[in-house]
Amino acid sequence: MNSDLDMPDAGISDASTADERAADAVWQDDVRAGVRHVRDLNSLPLSPAERAAAQQAAAHHKVRAPKPYLDLIDWNDPHDPIRAQVIPSPAELVATEGELDDPIGDHDFSPVPRLTHRHADRVLLFPTYQCAVYCRFCFRKESLTSIGRGYTREALEPALAYIAGHREIREVILTGGDPLSLPDKALGEIRAGVEAIPHVRLLRIHTRVPVALPSRVTAGLVKALQGRLMVTVVTHFNHAREITDATEGACRTLRQAGFVLLNQSVLLKGVNDTVEALEELCRELMYRLGVKPYYLHHGDLARGMAHRRTTIAEGQALVSALRQRLSGICNPTYVIDLPEGGGKVPLASCAIEGRDGETWRIRGQDGEVRAYKEVVGAR
Ligand SMILES: *Cc1c(COP(=O)(O)O)cnc(C)c1O
Ligand code: SF4
Repeated sequence: MNSDLDMPDAGISDASTADERAADAVWQDDVRAGVRHVRDLNSLPLSPAERAAAQQAAAHHKVRAPKPYLDLIDWNDPHDPIRAQVIPSPAELVATEGELDDPIGDHDFSPVPRLTHRHADRVLLFPTYQCAVYCRFCFRKESLTSIGRGYTREALEPALAYIAGHREIREVILTGGDPLSLPDKALGEIRAGVEAIPHVRLLRIHTRVPVALPSRVTAGLVKALQGRLMVTVVTHFNHAREITDATEGACRTLRQAGFVLLNQSVLLKGVNDTVEALEELCRELMYRLGVKPYYLHHGDLARGMAHRRTTIAEGQALVSALRQRLSGICNPTYVIDLPEGGGKVPLASCAIEGRDGETWRIRGQDGEVRAYKEVVGAR
């Protein structure tokens, strides 16, 4: 453990060669030079209101952002979309009626520690509750506050035994926390533990590391994840300004390793809630990074986030406009993750306006409703 980095899970380099050690030194410097603790905000040009909010906000949800991510902020713009994601704001201290500690019901579907099993064929596995960056809007922030929930091999044993005992599980989704904030050795152990279970086919990794700490995507990290399983890395870009030469390099490394890359974004008021922002984000993800936009999440009911939530109707209007402007491959599915474990449900407005026997009335992409008569052969 290297407490100097205040990021115990990620503070360890276990590199075996000089090249690997040099690559690890780069990202460790990026962590060290960033904000690791609320007191580090003192060195940033915050507004008096942000400064006043910081201490109290940090008591609810940690403050952390690596240097390359902070460098994307235009400090002259009080509404900068990167700043809005990582700098505590006074608005997040306001809890609104109806907000929830466990917005999507992770805990109700947790048969053993560090695992959520809500859909038969896939589970969430939580190897760590730490992240390389703490997003103010995080839907799991209540889980991330507890200390002492870093990675140990023993902590995952009950979860791995559970997966081994359930043959219907084909996908294991590493989430948290951010799994890629773990050292290579831990990632290699987790990968080996999962791939030893013969019915598991795919390892999925949900991470903001390629966005916020792209230097962490090293050859050593790739090597730790390669093995028998198909690997899918689901990144979390929310704005085109997060797409840089460095994030492009990280995604190229992951693609060249043979991993499938997808992205999920959260629809956030004042960050990406315009057609132009979403259009540019989705297009650059696909065309520049080779990352397929997968989900656009409606803002969930995490506490203190009313100021970042749009209405569902606003989201529907945005995705209808996106459908006209972007190809199918560039379009994400707009979903809501329902409380109490209701799962992810598509929200795009329904194209079906009605039906009369075999004739359906369906709204086309141009907005016109057309009659479509079904023609099927006799059974
Ligand atoms: C989001 C989620 C998944 C993954 O769902 P996909 O639709 O396959 O991406 C699995 N389990 C839980 C509990 C989830 O919240
Ligand atoms: S990286 Fe993910 S889990 Fe971590 S704070 Fe951000 S949204 Fe939450």
